[in-house]
Amino acid sequence: MTTDTDPEVREELRASVRRWVEREVLPVASDLEHADEYPEAIVEQMKAMGLFGITIPEEYGGLGLDLLAYIAVVEELAAGWMSLSGIVNTHTIAASLLMLQGSVEQRARWLPRLATGELRGCLSLSESDAGSDTNNIACRAARDGDEYVINGTKMWVTNGERAGLVALAARTDEGITCFMIEKKPGPRFEGINVSRNIPKLGYRGLETVEMVYDGHRVGADCVLGGLAGLGHGLGFILGALEVGRINIAARAVGVARAAFEAAIKYAQERRTMGKPIAEHQVIQHKLADMATKLQAARLLTEHAAVLKQRGERVDVEAGMAKLFASEAALDIATECLRIHGGVGYTTELPVERYYRDAPLMIIGEGTNEIQRLVIARGLLRRYAV
Ligand SMILES: Cc1cc2nc3c(=O)[nH]c(=O)nc-3n(C[C@H](O)[C@H](O)[C@H](O)COP(=O)(O)OP(=O)(O)OC[C@H]3O[C@@H](n4cnc5c(N)ncnc54)[C@H](O)[C@@H]3O)c2cc1C
Repeated sequence: MTTDTDPEVREELRASVRRWVEREVLPVASDLEHADEYPEAIVEQMKAMGLFGITIPEEYGGLGLDLLAYIAVVEELAAGWMSLSGIVNTHTIAASLLMLQGSVEQRARWLPRLATGELRGCLSLSESDAGSDTNNIACRAARDGDEYVINGTKMWVTNGERAGLVALAARTDEGITCFMIEKKPGPRFEGINVSRNIPKLGYRGLETVEMVYDGHRVGADCVLGGLAGLGHGLGFILGALEVGRINIAARAVGVARAAFEAAIKYAQERRTMGKPIAEHQVIQHKLADMATKLQAARLLTEHAAVLKQRGERVDVEAGMAKLFASEAALDIATECLRIHGGVGYTTELPVERYYRDAPLMIIGEGTNEIQRLVIARGLLRRYAV
């Protein structure tokens, strides 16, 4: 993990990403999202800004910043277009897995290229019958001399086609193991086939795919953490998912902020019964509740990031931040749409996009039903009598 970042550096980074989002992202986000078009040019600019290596240490070519800097960037990206925060999320999880569990050789092999975005990472944990039920993973990696032969079908792989490095959960004789699989970006590579691009309600413009492994071979040096990592993959991934859940919470804060700001602006412009709707008490109450939830969501997210940065186990805090912020984003996006009345329901304003993007956050990186179980288990452990 990196050391703490100077708060001024963090705020400069946030401000520069915000200016860039206003200039380059906002004017095109809704069109690209409606067309479900991958934002190639925007991603190239994100690479140039170092956004694929925010938390990767400088010795590997990253920006070497802390998780508070990371969540500030994620919030700004999501406030412009939530899909952009998804493009960095599973990439950052793959990098976190290497930083937390990778051997010296594995870190040196992949982190420098991940830091620049030359190599894009993704996480492939889920399967059609193993979403919440991660112990049910069926994808199999069978040992054959110095190699493993991988067979199985993975679902919901965000960034899967464009990624060059997949953090894959597969079953070995020792249990679930995490493999770092380098591949050529594209639909087919040596027995790895993208079999389906999954159509989505929102979160469009980046791919979420089904991937079939048909006899793909990798060296034993691709087992995360070396041979000592065999059978420990699920634990490794769940640890890195704490960063993923903090990302989801920060994303939710970004979408919620965009929705709140759109609502408070519109409420002062739109007039009914001879006055701006912002002067109707009902609307004022809505705005007050939205802002309160937004602030609470941001504070919970920052708290989880601070503890994770210190190296603490944060299943409870990351779960709380993800749970609260995602529910807040869903409520705030809905209220934003209500405050806009009929125009909120059109595709001419980004309001409908916030409304379609927000529900992903209650599902991704573990549903909120599962978050509650994680939080409760953690609390019972802490308060055991
Ligand atoms: C757009 C998108 C992108 C994604 N990207 C990725 C990715 O990049 N990599 C990846 O590995 N995965 C990814 N996922 C998968 C995601 O993590 C799973 O969809 C999620 O964990 C839920 O699993 P599931 O869909 O199988 O739902 P299920 O597990 O079938 O759950 C169905 C319902 O039952 C509830 N439920 C299940 N078990 C329990 C229980 N024990 N107690 C109470 N309620 C329960 C759930 O909360 C939910 O309401 C993505 C999903 C989506 C939609």
